[in-house]
Amino acid sequence: MNIHEYQAKTLLKEFGVPVGAGQPAFTVEEAVAAARSLPGPVYVVKSQIHAGGRGKGRFKEASAGDKGGVRLARSMEEVERFAREMLGATLVTVQTGPAGKEVGRLYVEDGCAIAREFYLSMLVDRTTSRVAVVVSTEGGMDIEEVAHKTPEKIVSFSVDPATGVMPHHGRRVARALGLSADLAKHAAELIKQLYAAFTTRDMAMLEINPLVVTEQGELRCLDAKISFDSNALFRQPGVLKLRDLSEEDDKEIEASKYDLNYIALEGEIGCMVNGAGLAMATMDIIKLYGATPANFLDVGGGATKDKVAAAFKIITSDPNVKGILVNIFGGIMRCDVIAEGVVAAVREVGLSVPLVVRLEGTNVELGKKIIADAKLNVLSADDLDDAAQKIVRAVRKEAA
Ligand code: GDP
Ligand code: MN
Repeated sequence: MNIHEYQAKTLLKEFGVPVGAGQPAFTVEEAVAAARSLPGPVYVVKSQIHAGGRGKGRFKEASAGDKGGVRLARSMEEVERFAREMLGATLVTVQTGPAGKEVGRLYVEDGCAIAREFYLSMLVDRTTSRVAVVVSTEGGMDIEEVAHKTPEKIVSFSVDPATGVMPHHGRRVARALGLSADLAKHAAELIKQLYAAFTTRDMAMLEINPLVVTEQGELRCLDAKISFDSNALFRQPGVLKLRDLSEEDDKEIEASKYDLNYIALEGEIGCMVNGAGLAMATMDIIKLYGATPANFLDVGGGATKDKVAAAFKIITSDPNVKGILVNIFGGIMRCDVIAEGVVAAVREVGLSVPLVVRLEGTNVELGKKIIADAKLNVLSADDLDDAAQKIVRAVRKEAA
């Protein structure tokens, strides 16, 4: 689960992390009121969307001006104008995809004069089973590009959970960033604070880009991006309250209600499969035959008819879906339950695209009979290869 920058900063502040003063704003009036509560004379008006690259992003609407989603304002008039331009407009960044994201809230922050910019992040490193710290002198840049072009400018190490952050970690960060005296001490302190926040709140990723030294010689986190481990949300009620459903895919929200493992993608073939491995193999073979999957969906082992019907409805509700492939290898999952779920969903919402069903395994004959009796317009297939070819061909024919 992801949260907005202003929420991340509020959370980090609880752990003593240095962030600027600021206020979220949902309206132009709130943005101006937020700016009035700050010392000025420079205010930063920041679009709050769950995607990075806002500064270099551009709005779709001409009325939003030709500046990006993070703007320095030098007067109340500018704060007001920027807020008016950005609220409700669609921001496209390298991370949003071409569709962009609508800006529903802003964050108005005290502007600071930057002397130096750094990159800092923490993430769960699965190979060492530890929290890894990554720092670089190349702040404000796309870190993937830095890793590609100048890997020597990135320093990383992992923290032993038994000891937590040690003084040598602090020294390592200070050396990597070229900080000495008080700033080195503050950097060491910051690593401790961020590590405490990371572990206490069950984060999966924490990225400060940029971390800056201000003209006044202080460290400050200018940006903050946090994602949490979804498996730990049950014990993080405070974090769960920060969820912004408007940032999430409607189909994924619906799927999470039914405990379905569903990820929306951008292709044209909807897939309903049981088992994550089979789901991935199904996506691969769709690709192999020249089409693209519209989703990843693992209905799981013990799915009920209702759950299957909900899954099928989520797939058909996607306007990009031009064909559906049901691929079930019945083990614990019974083919008749799948068939009943599909039939129930089609009765309720209809079916306007080709459907290929491949059933194999437990109760396969009964499953096939249920689908045949329902007189659905189904193409049946005998194996995965046959099924994939049939759905790709059917979709091509519809398009022609
Ligand atoms: P991102 O583009 O989504 O990563 O958003 P950021 O929060 O990182 O802001 C983009 C850029 O705006 C930063 O890299 C800074 O260069 C700049 N910026 C943000 N806050 C301030 C500020 O208080 N003062 C100045 N001078 N620049 C800022
Ligand atoms: Mn940033």
